[in-house]
Amino acid sequence: MTEELFSGDSYTREFEARVVKLDGREVILGRTAFYPGGGGQPADKGSLGIGPVRADVVDARRERGHVVHVLDIAIPATVRDLKGTLDWERRYAHMRYHTALHVLSGVIWRNFEAKVTGGQMRTDRARMDFSFPGEWTADVVGEIERLTNEALAEDRPVKVYELGREEALADPDLIRTQVNLVPERVNRIRIVEIEGLDTQADGGTHVANTREVGEMGITGHKSKGRQNKRIEFVLR
Ligand SMILES: [Zn+2]
Repeated sequence: MTEELFSGDSYTREFEARVVKLDGREVILGRTAFYPGGGGQPADKGSLGIGPVRADVVDARRERGHVVHVLDIAIPATVRDLKGTLDWERRYAHMRYHTALHVLSGVIWRNFEAKVTGGQMRTDRARMDFSFPGEWTADVVGEIERLTNEALAEDRPVKVYELGREEALADPDLIRTQVNLVPERVNRIRIVEIEGLDTQADGGTHVANTREVGEMGITGHKSKGRQNKRIEFVLR
């Protein structure tokens, strides 16, 4: 198994690791700060290198407990250790957007009892789909934007911790966000909690406080059926 440094500390942007497997343009390391993608958050990019050897990491994915780094060029098979460096601007943008999605999700549940059905983030925008039973007007969307910005400005800490499976399944907030969909073989479930607003089972990377997200602006809203609604937004 690859030790996943991003899971304990999302702010790790440089690390050293031993090479576990080198196969052409694909590398498995003993540990990594590269997020392999998932939960609507894209995989990280950056570079791996040592001495004169250097390659860009163009993609990463999880495969049987390992994180596989995909490089733009093959590196020599004799390399034993590598230093990894994330494209931090890109990753930090994902962390801000990811955290904003949690706040948005918490607000629309708290104020409208609407459940999230999906979400996706990029470095410069994000979108969220939810099951919204009420009328879908510009006024409602404006209210969601106002309430979300209010919550973001409250300097709420974002806490990351683990719970045992039984404990997690007994928490109504976690059930709402479908913790029951976490595969049964997972005994320790990683929880991301924005104090007083949103708690989810989540493997992604987030900022430490909602203050780091800044302000959001809704750029589009769509009705995708009677219940299914979408919001698109940017961070300023
Ligand atoms: Zn998350």
